[in-house]
Amino acid sequence: MSKVVTYLKSLSLKELRKGMGLTLKYFFKRKFTVRYPEEKTPKSPRFRGLHALRRYPNGEERCIACKLCEAVCPAAAITIDSDVREDGSRRTTKYEIDLFKCIYCGFCEESCPVDSIVETDIHEFHFESKGKNVITKEQLLAIGDMYEEQIAESKQQDAKYR
Ligand code: SF4
Ligand code: SF4
Repeated sequence: MSKVVTYLKSLSLKELRKGMGLTLKYFFKRKFTVRYPEEKTPKSPRFRGLHALRRYPNGEERCIACKLCEAVCPAAAITIDSDVREDGSRRTTKYEIDLFKCIYCGFCEESCPVDSIVETDIHEFHFESKGKNVITKEQLLAIGDMYEEQIAESKQQDAKYR
C-alpha cells in the first residue's frame, strides 16, 4: 500500500515543488556567501598573516640577530644564524621561518625589541613545490619592503590601543 502512495506522490512532483519553494524563499533574502576572490569578508585588524622583516628608512635592516623570536617561538619554526659584520654590528646570515610549523601566534612579533619581524595581514599565499614553505630572509625582507607603508600604519594603530 505504502509503495502505491509513494508512487502517486512522485507523480505529483511534491518533493520537487517543495524544493523549488525553498529556493524561492531564500532567493530574495540576504546572502551568506561571497563571490571570492572578487568579494571578501571583513578581516579583524588584529589578524596575523604572512611574516615580513622590516628595514629602517635608510635601508638598514632592523634585525639585530638577538634571537629572541627564535627562542620564544612555541613551534620552533624560526631558524637564525648570525655573524659580526666589519663595522662590529651583529646581523643574521640566515633567517628562516617554516610556515608549515608556524601557528601564527604572534609571539615573534611581540618579542622583537626593534619591530623587525612582523606579521602582515596577508593571508592569500601558497606554495608550489616542496620546501617552499620555508621562507628565507631575502623573501621576508622583500615582503617588508613591499608592505612597509601598511605595516608602519598598523604599528601606529596598535600603539594607540596599548
Ligand atoms: S607566529 Fe608564533 S609560531 Fe609563527 S614564527 Fe612567530 S612565534 Fe613562531
Ligand atoms: S627579528 Fe627581532 S627578535 Fe628576532 S632576532 Fe631579529 S631583532 Fe631579535
